[in-house]
Amino acid sequence: MKAIGVRDGAGQAELMEIPKPDPEAGEALVRTLRVGVDGTDHEVIAGSHGGSPEGEEFLVLGHEAVGVVEDPNGTEFEVGDVVVPTVRRPPNGPNRYFDNEEPDMAPEGQYHERGIVGAHGFMAEYFTSPASKLVSVPPALAEHGFLVEPISITEKAVEHADASRSAFEWAPESALVLGNGSLGLLTLAMFEGRFDRTYCLGRRERPDPTIDIIESLGSTYVNSTETPIPEIPDVYEAPDLIYEATGYAKHPFEAIEALAPNGVAALLGVPSNWKFEIDGGTLHREIVLHNKAVVGSVNSNVRQFEAAVDSLAALSDSFLDALVTGIYGLDEFEAAFVDDDTTIKNAVQFSTYEER
Ligand code: NAP
Ligand code: BGC
Ligand code: ZN
Repeated sequence: MKAIGVRDGAGQAELMEIPKPDPEAGEALVRTLRVGVDGTDHEVIAGSHGGSPEGEEFLVLGHEAVGVVEDPNGTEFEVGDVVVPTVRRPPNGPNRYFDNEEPDMAPEGQYHERGIVGAHGFMAEYFTSPASKLVSVPPALAEHGFLVEPISITEKAVEHADASRSAFEWAPESALVLGNGSLGLLTLAMFEGRFDRTYCLGRRERPDPTIDIIESLGSTYVNSTETPIPEIPDVYEAPDLIYEATGYAKHPFEAIEALAPNGVAALLGVPSNWKFEIDGGTLHREIVLHNKAVVGSVNSNVRQFEAAVDSLAALSDSFLDALVTGIYGLDEFEAAFVDDDTTIKNAVQFSTYEER
């Protein structure tokens, strides 16, 4: 069957021929519909994050998948069910994080991530997965089901941010999303209705499609080249929640100072090493004297995937149409990996729901 992968050191995705998988006991065989591309895929292709399975010299890409059950293989699923797989798998038999259904909390070495590190991903015509790691999606959402995984990332981050503020009556009114990539924009859309005022930071000039999306959501665009984060409290306001999705390593430190008293910063970016000077005393004092919290968050669990299905259903068609800039077949898969100012969220299409 056809798959899209990256050979070690190649720096670009390529079409490959690999064997069609056979489901083992407890696993279902899934026919892949669509698989999304995000900033992490670009980092994996560039070789700055993740890695191939042990003993292999290539990695099948893709961790944002939606598919149709082709062979339930004795699991609770039925032929034709639309499903989304979670990303993490135990590396050498189960460990306590997987036993507790909290694989997202496993430290490095105690997980593989399909399509990212140690295990092949979902960019293939078929994939197998334990039924316990497949989440059902209503057929009406099949088209956009590849967005469930990135949405689940924000479900988790917000859950942890909220938990850090649960010891008192926190009444957040404003949120600032750092980053106008696909994760930042999905998060901004999820914040509609939850916050009275939202802001989204990028570094693009107008006209730009992401700025149009930000404004159509009723949010305020902040250009970091004109208004850097330290100036945001004076120019706009000090936000109660800051969600970092730029991967720009100075942002978390600037966010701590910019937050409103009692606020929380959720950090999602995965930067490369970068040494720079910070005023540690000011940051330490700011966190203590203003009861601020900083929460790091990675990956997500089945419960957060289930919440993401509901959040996806609540997103408007006009937002989704603007966010998804390209769906590409296998004959033009390279286009899905283009990363320029006209692409926001791309996906590769392997088959259609109607084919069943
Ligand atoms: P992305 O498409 O690369 O988005 C990052 C965005 O941040 C881009 O739009 C970029 O703008 C903007 N940006 C970067 N530096 C900036 C700066 N100094 N000022 C203003 N804007 C800046 O990536 P993504 O898929 O949305 O993901 C965002 C980050 O989250 C990545 O680091 C990714 O690795 C990480 N991530 C983490 C998790 C997790 O579980 N923790 C999950 C998914 C993704 P330009 O496009 O104009 O350059
Ligand atoms: C994926 C997560 C993964 C993280 C770190 C993200 O893009 O969506 O599932 O845990 O990268 O590899
Ligand atoms: Zn991702």
